[in-house]
Amino acid sequence: MPNTLSPWLATALDLAKAGLPLVPAHYPVPPDRWHLSGCSCTRPDCPTPAAHPIRRLTVDQATTSTKQLLRWWSGNAADANLATVADAAVEVIELRHSSPHSEVAAWLRANGVEPGPVLDPGDGRTQFLTSPTNVPVGWYWPLPPGWVTKLEHGSIVLLPPSHQADGPAVEWLTGPVDVELPDCWCLFHALKRLPTRAALADYRHEERDARPVR
Ligand SMILES: [Zn+2]
Repeated sequence: MPNTLSPWLATALDLAKAGLPLVPAHYPVPPDRWHLSGCSCTRPDCPTPAAHPIRRLTVDQATTSTKQLLRWWSGNAADANLATVADAAVEVIELRHSSPHSEVAAWLRANGVEPGPVLDPGDGRTQFLTSPTNVPVGWYWPLPPGWVTKLEHGSIVLLPPSHQADGPAVEWLTGPVDVELPDCWCLFHALKRLPTRAALADYRHEERDARPVR
């Protein structure tokens, strides 16, 4: 193992240790004649900028193997975004709601559901990591101010400190260290019952601090 790990490699190893398999993903670059889509893949018509595996890798190659992560992030994927994959080691439930996450989390706890590790991709969505499940939980549910959905098997999920194509950095709102994964079915069905923004405003409790791996 190298004496000095780059911050990206060190974080990748920590995330893998926490049980999240990773695959290097493309990253945002300033648009120019070779990167019209703002994606490091150089495809001008890239359909998923900064959110697909590099080179010929596939989501099925996401791994927690130290050897492989060292090979990727200390080699020519040193700048790659850190991506995990929905329904590999965790399920991912995505929420769009106009209320702050602190109110959503407080409402969940008041209803007996711990939110677990939560990601903020920086674009108005919130991503909840849950335990794997074989129980059908539904895929999409409209809410008065948004929606809740469970990401399909194989969907790419960027992890901090990755950046999305349009700039924002992904951040942990809760976890991932020492935060238990909630049950997928329970969390999805709780989020389906989220009240309106006005009703959620009563749930202004302190949110627990995120404990990032780095
Ligand atoms: Zn691309």
